[in-house]
Amino acid sequence: MTEHAVVIAGGGPTGLMLAGELALAGVDVVIVERRASQDLDGSRGGGLHSRTIEVLDQRGIAERFLSAGQVMQVQGFALIPLDISDFPTRHNYGLALWQSHFEPILADWVGELGVPILRSCEVVGFAQDDSGVDVEISGGTSLRAEYLVGCDGGRSLIRKAAGIDFAGLDPSTSWMIAEVEMDEEPEFGFRRDSVGRHALGRRQDGEPVRVVLTERHVDHTGDPSMGELREALVAVYGTDYGLRSASWISRFTDMTRQAASYRHGRVLLAGDAAHVHPPHGGQGLNTGVQDAVNLGWKLAQVVIKTSPESLLDTYHAERHPVGARVLHNTMAQVALSSPDDRHQALRDTMTELLSMDEPRRRIAAMLSGLDIHYDLGEGPPLLGRRMPDLDLHTADGPTRVFTLLHDARPVLLNLGEPGGFDISPWANRVRFIDAKHAGGWELPVLGEVAAPPAVLIRPDGHVAWAGDLTDPELPQALATWFGAANPAH
Ligand SMILES: Cc1cc2nc3c(=O)[nH]c(=O)nc-3n(C[C@H](O)[C@H](O)[C@H](O)COP(=O)(O)OP(=O)(O)OC[C@H]3O[C@@H](n4cnc5c(N)ncnc54)[C@H](O)[C@@H]3O)c2cc1C
Repeated sequence: MTEHAVVIAGGGPTGLMLAGELALAGVDVVIVERRASQDLDGSRGGGLHSRTIEVLDQRGIAERFLSAGQVMQVQGFALIPLDISDFPTRHNYGLALWQSHFEPILADWVGELGVPILRSCEVVGFAQDDSGVDVEISGGTSLRAEYLVGCDGGRSLIRKAAGIDFAGLDPSTSWMIAEVEMDEEPEFGFRRDSVGRHALGRRQDGEPVRVVLTERHVDHTGDPSMGELREALVAVYGTDYGLRSASWISRFTDMTRQAASYRHGRVLLAGDAAHVHPPHGGQGLNTGVQDAVNLGWKLAQVVIKTSPESLLDTYHAERHPVGARVLHNTMAQVALSSPDDRHQALRDTMTELLSMDEPRRRIAAMLSGLDIHYDLGEGPPLLGRRMPDLDLHTADGPTRVFTLLHDARPVLLNLGEPGGFDISPWANRVRFIDAKHAGGWELPVLGEVAAPPAVLIRPDGHVAWAGDLTDPELPQALATWFGAANPAH
């Protein structure tokens, strides 16, 4: 039986990102993926939010995605546009980039890091014991791993086989989605009727027309046929615009569910396997990628044995509330999209509110992921929040914070007098960097915050501690997050 430290079931956005994070930390990881290639049968997710672009920037790969898509103000709350160009981030925008283009770029990075992907293979079952997991693969083979991570999408076999409850709401609405060729130029944009909102769009000339139609009924099994699509178009628009062919026809609903636990022993869940919700606000892929960036370094440290297994519990503690908030805001967006007059009155009210700066900033920071605040206890405002990408001057020349995170290792950044702390007990795990930053510190929504003399940054870019290097809590924070002091190093 082949052995690996970590087996990832599913090589979608979440599984790929997690594999990259583990490989950067030197962990032996393999992806088992059902699809024969990275190709998707439709374009699926429409793009990236600011915080996802930031986490890719933290790994030095943002430019690959930015150059493949279109930078724009993509954010909307129930399609009410939200501009983030005044946000304190280098990436004060979103990226329009279809998931079908995003995945191959991410897969190339994972390939460069040497992660094997077992394609056309499925995880069909597993059994865990005290020391590891036997992972059963289609075709009668199996793998042995210390940990198994289910990144296998909303219908996750891993979640079901682990017996993890997937609590939430059944669907109330169903939408048909398709990518089609039409003989006539259709009416692009949104249309509302008594059934709901419908949309026809094309991002670029030469691309197929993307159709999203609210359906009258929610109880469907399987994908719609060409005939059903034609019928639905005629019902809404009075014509099918000369519908010729469809490269993709599918449907999605507003089913909203979340795994009760993101961990069961040696089995973990991330991405859609842990949470499903309607695509309103375009948050699914983004949340999955960020789950992976939260889990990756923690799992690596546990596998490499610098940290105890209990570090993994912080993954659920930090990411479950983030997922719950996404589910909550998508439910609100679905309600605001209801076509009846009362909901439309509510929508008008919300549109007015979101034209004001403070509400806009709050809701936009939530959708973009820039306001994520892990609860790490009492402390300065930076604690648990994302570290801003400051311009720095170091002995090696100018750099910026995100560049220091490219290799996914923690950084103790000293902005006060050089030296002043003996990092040697953690020197094999944590980089100590003396630097200067001219200018203030500004966080999304919170605004200006006091500049701390030093800050301990986790590999996911969140602040684990901030203060003076003489603070007795600093050695405690280092030990909590990056393992016990080891004077031998
Ligand atoms: C119409 C639509 C629009 C969307 N728009 C957006 C958007 O704009 N922005 C956004 O952020 N999100 C959007 N999403 C959501 C986004 O597509 C998902 O959240 C995202 O794909 C989740 O990634 P994942 O890797 O967790 O799961 P998936 O993408 O579902 O990947 C799971 C992978 O696991 C594989 N797999 C499944 N079972 C097994 C098994 N047993 N063994 C091995 N492999 C297995 C599958 O083949 C697949 O490759 C949209 C979704 C839809 C349907």
